[in-house]
Formats: sequence, C-alpha cells, structure tokens
Amino acid sequence: MKAEIISIGTELLLGEIPDTNASYLASQLPLLGIDLNWVSQVGDNHARLVEVLRRAWDRSDLIITGGGLGPTEDDITREVVAELLGEEMILDQTLVSEMEQMFLKRGWKMPERNLKQAMVTSSVTSVPNPYGTAPGWWVEKDGRMLVTLPGPPRELHRMWTQEIAPRLRKKSTSILVSRVFKLLTLGEATVDEMASPLLSSTNPTIGVYAKFDGIHLRLAAKAANEQAALDLMAPFEQQLRDIFGTNIWGTDDDTLESAVGGMLTEKGLSLATMESCTGGLLASTITDAPGSSAYFKGGLVTYATQSKIDSGVDPAVIEKHGVISAETALAMATAARDRFGADIGIGVTGVAGPDGLDGKDAGTVHIGIDYQGSKKNVFINLPPRRIEVKRRAVLLALAELRKLLIA
Ligand code: ATP
Repeated sequence: MKAEIISIGTELLLGEIPDTNASYLASQLPLLGIDLNWVSQVGDNHARLVEVLRRAWDRSDLIITGGGLGPTEDDITREVVAELLGEEMILDQTLVSEMEQMFLKRGWKMPERNLKQAMVTSSVTSVPNPYGTAPGWWVEKDGRMLVTLPGPPRELHRMWTQEIAPRLRKKSTSILVSRVFKLLTLGEATVDEMASPLLSSTNPTIGVYAKFDGIHLRLAAKAANEQAALDLMAPFEQQLRDIFGTNIWGTDDDTLESAVGGMLTEKGLSLATMESCTGGLLASTITDAPGSSAYFKGGLVTYATQSKIDSGVDPAVIEKHGVISAETALAMATAARDRFGADIGIGVTGVAGPDGLDGKDAGTVHIGIDYQGSKKNVFINLPPRRIEVKRRAVLLALAELRKLLIA
C-alpha cells in the first residue's frame, strides 16, 4: 500500500512550527507495513490544497491529511476533500448533538461556526475525537482511502492510535518489524564496512545511522505477521552479533547508562565520580538509569583547581602535570573512590568551551577510571562546543567503563 501524508497549515510554511505530525505518522506507517512515498506541506489555501490532494489521489492508495479541521474560515480541509470526491457536504445531525453536548458539559453554548465541523459527505465515516471538537473523516472510494486528522498533536496521536491504525491494520497484508542494535567506539564508515556483506539484503534490510549515542544498525523485516518477520530477522541478528560482538552495547530503547548500571548491579560493584568540565552531567546521566541508587555512591563537581585539592586530589599531581591532564583525571578518579568508599571512581577534567583556560586545551577532555586500584585513562579532542563536548565526554566515560566491566 502506497501512502502519502499532507500536512495543512500556513504556520508550517512560515516555519513557525515544525511538522511533528508528519514525523509521527511517518514513524507509525512502517509498523503497519505501509510504504510512505510522499510527504507534502501546504498552506491554508484552497487552490493549492486542491492541487496537492488531486495529485495524491492519482498516485497514492492511502492519503492522510493533518490539520485544517477547525471551525474557523481558514480551516478548509473538509470543503476541499468534498470537492475532490465530487460530493456534497451535508450536516450530520448526530454529530451536531454530540458536539452540542460537548460544549454543554463545559458550560458553553456551541457557536454557530462549529457547525461546519459536523459536516460529512456520502462516502465519509466520521471518526470520533474526544480530545477536541473536530471529528476526523475516514473515506473509502474508488479503491482509495483518505483520512483527515486534526492538527493538534494530542488529538492526532489519539485518533491515529485508537481509531485509524486499528482499521488500517485490518487492511494491510504485511507488517514491518524492526530492531535497533547500538554500537559505540566504532565509526560510521567502519560499521558500514564491517556490515557490508549483509547490506545488500532487501528483506530484511539493514541500515547504518550515526546517532548521538553512537552508531545504530536497524534490522527490519516485512512479513505477513510478526512471527514470520522475526524468523526472517533471526539469522541476520546472529550474523550481526558475530561480526560486532561486544561492540553492540544495547538494543532498541536501551541507554548506555542503564546498560552500564545493569553490569554494575550484576557484579555487585559501586561507583563514584568527580567531575570538572562536565559540571555534573556524568552523575546526572548515571542517575537517569532506574535503580542507580543501588550502585552510585556519589559525585562531586570540583570546577576550581582548589576544589579538586580540597576534595582529595594530590596538589603535587596537578602542579606537575597540569589540571587538564590524564594524571589529574586519574587522581580525581581515585579521590572520588576514596571519598565515597566505592569500587570504581571516574574523574573527568578538560575544557569544554573555547572560553575556558584562555582557550588553551579547548575541546580536550581527559577521563580517568580507577577500578579497584587498576587505572585507565582516555581522552577526546573535539571542536570546543560546550554542550557537545560535555555530552560526548559523558558517553566516552560510560563506554570506557563498560569495556572494563566486560573484560
Ligand atoms: P483546531 O480544531 O484546533 O483548529 P485543526 O485540525 O484545524 O484543529 P490546525 O488549526 O491546522 O488544526 O492546527 C492546530 C494546531 O495544531 C496548530 O496551531 C499547531 O500548534 C498544531 N499543528 C498543526 N499542524 C501541525 C503539524 N503538522 N505538526 C505539529 N503541530 C501541528
């Protein structure tokens, strides 16, 4: 089934709002085995909406519109769809009384203008919208389907999940099942090269994507039902695991902090941190994982050099190697471990932005890990964009800790 999404609203074309409705729908269609071939945005303009809808009607099996179902004059989706269908709009008295009831519940009289939201045509089935006043339309005609959804995302999401997706599921002959494998410490090109023997497969397919938490491999199979799709995927999953081994740190919704947290829990180990340039982001990320109170003993943010010394870092180390150094990062890791009586300490020191330490070492971050007295350090050097450097440093710290825990 070929689908097309049309987002309607001048706000979209003015760049005032991002088209999150289209993104949401695009993410939902594959789950129903429906191929999305086109996405269009069009303003609240009669002639242009007619043009976009006509083209969609000629080339797609399923057209989904979002927006323009409101009571105001510039909400024209219904009128234009009726024109496209060549059908007359008539007032649906059941819808009128339902809408009147809805207004009454809020203590208001329904304004005359809202009557246009109770209009239907002969091939329209009205779709309930308990979160708003605008019902949707479900149309089946000449072998095509057309769905009109309200613009407000909360209303659109509900109508999609509760009303539209179940109807489409019955019509669709296949579904798409996908699984994401998450990798760290390998670059996108390397992953692509290593996976290349599998990349030419058309069902399942494998895609390589660079994401904020590393590289994602998406394995996706289309089949008549979920089990058949999983059966197609199983040998490919095995091959991916053979190729990438422990570089795969998680799947689907897994986060690095919960993957690491799971390993710490399993091994009965505790963790403490001392951070400088990441300003507490490492501790914050560690505690994003549910159950972290079982293994995270505590974290210190020692931004100033004197604070590091006051927190147990040997001043001689700082004097000899400088505050931005592998040695200081390790001394911070050990100080954190001692201070909180933890099995593992992580120390982070560096310069996240171009403005720190007179621009010297900008973008360099040293990470030290003290794992029951055995010490390891790594560093990164990135363009000094504060937020990015902090985020990447935290990921690197967690990735390195994970490596130590696997070993
Ligand atoms: P209403 O009954 O509220 O008027 P409607 O169906 O007419 O609903 P619009 O008036 O087109 O919808 O949009 C209402 C609001 O929904 C917009 O102001 C915007 O905040 C949000 N919205 C509309 N389209 C989109 C979109 N494509 N992506 C994200 N948000 C959207």
